Amino acid sequence: VQDPRIAKIASSIRVIPDFPKPGIMFQDITTLLLDTEAFKDTIALFVDRYKDKGISVVAGVEARGFIFGPPIALAIGAKFVPMRKPKKLPGKVISEEYSLEYGTDTIEMHVGAVEPGERAIIIDDLIATGGTLAAAIRLLERVGVKIVECACVIELPELKGKEKLGETSLFVLVKSA
Ligand code: AMP
Repeated sequence: VQDPRIAKIASSIRVIPDFPKPGIMFQDITTLLLDTEAFKDTIALFVDRYKDKGISVVAGVEARGFIFGPPIALAIGAKFVPMRKPKKLPGKVISEEYSLEYGTDTIEMHVGAVEPGERAIIIDDLIATGGTLAAAIRLLERVGVKIVECACVIELPELKGKEKLGETSLFVLVKSA
């Protein structure tokens, strides 16, 4: 049986067809953030799963991983590490490139933000093709961090993003078409 909080979270997410381009069903989590119960329950479900697991790093993917990551990090006593688009972080960075439908993109993290041997979760609002999370995994693994799991509010299972994550497990609250 599914946790009754999940249905409320799912219904708080607004779907906007053809944004940002034709054929994309955009999953808009800003309406989840307006629903105080749904937002609180979303954070609580992640916190329940990750507390007491020896996790010292919550890595959040720009931009919407920056919304869900910090409250989870505070609640479980972990640090929050932003994984950003290129040229945003002011210090020395390490970067990881990944392919998009057309071209490539890059995510970056500050050198020294994490130590080898730390245990991390990676959080984003949504997994589509899995390219972004796969790059985040590679970036953290390059510096010796153990990825306990990737966590997302929403999965688009038809895009099979989970398969891109290799051995790393994926936890999602809501699956959407
Ligand atoms: P991907 O790398 O293909 O898994 O894409 C994941 C990233 O793109 C996440 O940061 C999402 O926020 C964003 N994204 C991709 N598809 C959608 C969608 N249908 N609705 C909202 N965000 C999306």
